[in-house]
Amino acid sequence: MAESLYYRTAAELSRALESKELSSEEIVRSVIERTRAVDDKVSAFISFDEGDALERARASDRRRAEGKALGPLDGIPVGIKDVLAVEGQPLTCASRMLGKFVSPYDATAIARLKAAGAVPWGRLNMDEFAMGSSTENSSVKTTSNPWNTDCIPGGSSGGSAACVAAGEAPISLGSDTGGSIRQPAALCGVVGMKPTYGLVSRYGLVAFASSLDQIGPFAHTVEDAAILLQAVAGHDDRDSSSYRTDIPDYRKELSSRKGPWKLGIPKEYFGEGLDPEVARAIEAAIDFYRGEGCEIVDVSLPHTEHAVGVYYIIATAEASSNLARYDGVRYSHRSAEATDAIDLYFKSRAEGFGPEVKRRVILGTYVLSSGYYDAYYLKAQKVRTLIRRDFLQAYEKVDALLTPTTPSPAFRKGEKTDDPLQMYLSDIFTISANLAGIPGISIPCGFSESGLPIGLQILGQPFQEADLFAIARRFEQAHDYHTRHPSL
Ligand code: GLN
Repeated sequence: MAESLYYRTAAELSRALESKELSSEEIVRSVIERTRAVDDKVSAFISFDEGDALERARASDRRRAEGKALGPLDGIPVGIKDVLAVEGQPLTCASRMLGKFVSPYDATAIARLKAAGAVPWGRLNMDEFAMGSSTENSSVKTTSNPWNTDCIPGGSSGGSAACVAAGEAPISLGSDTGGSIRQPAALCGVVGMKPTYGLVSRYGLVAFASSLDQIGPFAHTVEDAAILLQAVAGHDDRDSSSYRTDIPDYRKELSSRKGPWKLGIPKEYFGEGLDPEVARAIEAAIDFYRGEGCEIVDVSLPHTEHAVGVYYIIATAEASSNLARYDGVRYSHRSAEATDAIDLYFKSRAEGFGPEVKRRVILGTYVLSSGYYDAYYLKAQKVRTLIRRDFLQAYEKVDALLTPTTPSPAFRKGEKTDDPLQMYLSDIFTISANLAGIPGISIPCGFSESGLPIGLQILGQPFQEADLFAIARRFEQAHDYHTRHPSL
């Protein structure tokens, strides 16, 4: 198959469908072929269902033949992180706990994709229950970074990022609780965006930390990310935290929002520990925006230093509560050894959860326990408010913020597995956006000398995704990083 097909963007594929140059069946077959050819190396997929994808593709082709095509995603395959419910498909969260679970219903995001004619493609690898930064916490396997298979792809949505980077799907969905979309996007050289908390319904997204979780898109281009977000965004009665807000036409706004913008540079994101190659790439991006007439303003987000600590209190507290449902009784792994009900809970959880999930449940239970609640959980909630306030104050002066997405390019497999704190610190630049509820996007902005991608993070104002896309696109249009692909 010609490389040009599996690295075409969703927008290009959509035009090829409209002009009858391609059928959806041809597109889905190309993706299947590519996945079969490279996924032994990349390991982005836990499983895939070729029959289901082809059936949906043919249905799309029939609709189109009748002049009833549903829009830009009709007939386009979309990779799905194994944390989102797709009716009739496995839903494992890369955990032994859900190893045999098949989803009885569609997540709202998936139902909306299907209503738009898109073809859900595969179950993408991730850190178990989305806890991690490298996919090394998957109970199934570790995904490889397509740019260097000795390196991790980032996490927790490592499969979603790697499958797009490797041409195994043009676009994909992931989830981001503390950086799990933006960090792997940066490390795999693709676009990844976390929407404002409340923009995309979490119904059917397996809960990790409910006040932080958001679903969002991966893509090669900002335009594709905008198309995919458009399909899944919007109020849903089934998620009480879903926000009622008008959703603009993101794709149209890409060309109508022209700037120049006022862009803030938060000094806390450029300190010690930032890899010099990453620093250089981000400085070059800042210079680019300055050259485009944007006003570059130094700002401060003084509570940033507490973000990692606050996150690992709030996220683990919520996780310990959310994961209480996996008790061996209903839909989860059930120990064959248990002698009574209590023993069943203990043994099923001991066998079903991996070590990082256990660590989080233990930490979360600790910070919520009486005597420690005020000192840890309540305090963390207060500091969270201060972190959000920092951003809102900065946004009185600027439209958006520019930062690195990650402190370094992709690290090697095994490098941080024995040191949870080092692993946690790889999310240091992404976590605050979840605590503050604001949107963020990562776009490719360069490569290290060893050929690994580097990501620029742009953080925006609540529900101003259209601005983020427009700002990101300005950079993309003047650079070719997003058109480079790994050789596999
Ligand atoms: N790496 C972070 C964690 O381990 C964030 C994960 C995520 O965003 N799902 O919690």
